[in-house]
Amino acid sequence: MKKYIFVTGGVMSSLGKGITSASLGRILKSEGYKVTILKFDPYLNIDAGSQNPFQHGEVFVTEDGAETDLDLGHYERFLDENLFQENNVTSGQVYQTVIQKERRGDYLGSTVQIIPHITAEIKRRIRIVSENSDKDITIVEVGGTVGDIESLPFLESIREFKMEEGEGNVAFVHLTYIPYLKMTGELKTKPTQHSVGELRKIGIQPDIIIARGERDIGKEEKKKIALFTNVREENIFSLSNADLIYKVPLILEREGISCTLSRILHLREREPKLFDWQEMIKKGMERKGTVKLAIVGKYIKLQDAYLSLNEAIRHSSFEAGVNVDIQWIESELLEDSTASLKGVNGILVPGGFGKRGIEGMISAAQFARENKIPYFGICLGMQVAVIEFAKNVLKWKDAHSAEFMPQTTHPVIDLMEEQKNITDKGGTMRLGAYKCDFIKKLSVYKFYGNKPYVFERHRHRYELNNGYREQIEDKGLKIVGEYTEKHLGEIVEMREHPFFVGVQFHPEFKSRPLSPHPLFTAFVRAMKST
Ligand code: GLN
Repeated sequence: MKKYIFVTGGVMSSLGKGITSASLGRILKSEGYKVTILKFDPYLNIDAGSQNPFQHGEVFVTEDGAETDLDLGHYERFLDENLFQENNVTSGQVYQTVIQKERRGDYLGSTVQIIPHITAEIKRRIRIVSENSDKDITIVEVGGTVGDIESLPFLESIREFKMEEGEGNVAFVHLTYIPYLKMTGELKTKPTQHSVGELRKIGIQPDIIIARGERDIGKEEKKKIALFTNVREENIFSLSNADLIYKVPLILEREGISCTLSRILHLREREPKLFDWQEMIKKGMERKGTVKLAIVGKYIKLQDAYLSLNEAIRHSSFEAGVNVDIQWIESELLEDSTASLKGVNGILVPGGFGKRGIEGMISAAQFARENKIPYFGICLGMQVAVIEFAKNVLKWKDAHSAEFMPQTTHPVIDLMEEQKNITDKGGTMRLGAYKCDFIKKLSVYKFYGNKPYVFERHRHRYELNNGYREQIEDKGLKIVGEYTEKHLGEIVEMREHPFFVGVQFHPEFKSRPLSPHPLFTAFVRAMKST
């Protein structure tokens, strides 16, 4: 069985197509189907790795080392499964493949065109995902908004795709926006009518409409949308803003979306089993008390830049049964004074690149170390903790990372050997999952449940410099985890401190609502007991 669901977006961006696609995935998986989700991104970058987080939010890293769109993070969290490089298709990848084929002579004699060559490549990539992962249902989220020039080849491809797969094997879901006009107290359906009009112009008739907005739409609006869009009234769903993204599968299912999908895709009706999901939400609703967490970073103006981090904290806050009030602190502001850190129960310095704000992060690590406040350093956050320790405990005044101070006499963080001759910036960092052995069985080993090793995901060029290892450890900052094959330090842990942990990897990418990451949970628990 091979079924496909295409999710498009109308009227405007940021409506939550990613969460909706992920929610449909959760519902269908809970019915016992094997489900995967694929994202089309219409931009020409080969991957999200070369984009500024301010523009595009976080770069999500998969187990196999792909730098992908942040929606892949939603898919993994909702499906509770790993996804791969092939689950994120960009225009850049599609054009690159077609142009390489043209140069090789694969199309010799023909004029290479968007239709049929680009569209064929897009369709091929959908089938690769569904076949490689042997899934029953493949959900494809088409990035961008209907009407954009950029997404046209993708829309044309999915139109052709339905022709090839046939009725009953493909469902088109269109997510749209219904504005509420305060002046007249009305919900307006016109933008939706236009957006569906655009879709129909290119030959796509949506089967389902999901209406997003501040308020729920009622029978009247559904009737009107049905009349103008040719979508049956019972196939129109209302999805107003949810206070928790994990509630979206439950909201959609309350209106019976699985039943509608079964009808369109000619599936025998099954009962979605969302008990574990409901339990997880219930746990979240029953949290007691609040701890204050300072997150010190340089991209805090756009919280999407720390999406997985935010979610990982949420999962662990559910698990630990306490609310976490996050105070986002621009690291540059700590360069003059750390007063804003007073009274927090924990400090977290996440990943990042570039020099701006580094000194503020170093001050944050120092503040946490000296005041015995739980500290969690992730990637760059681990590196700054080591720099701070070298500067202030080992008294190497100019200690630094070679990334920020190439002339330092104490490069405690340095470029990896294999990075030294790399000139291309795209996809060349240390990426994806690597094995981390516990070489010292201190607290972190216990947090992870006494396993001999774990796999965690990476995205960085610089590393702990082994030349300083002994001296750093002698003073109490222990290297407890290592990628043994290359003798790379991966986890540091401070003795005589309630919680001071730095990791070279990004644990946030592996945290799931149904299985929160043990390090985040240990950190939240440590904050709770301060
Ligand atoms: N800039 C640092 C490096 O490249 C840290 C990267 C990160 O935090 N992801 O090593």
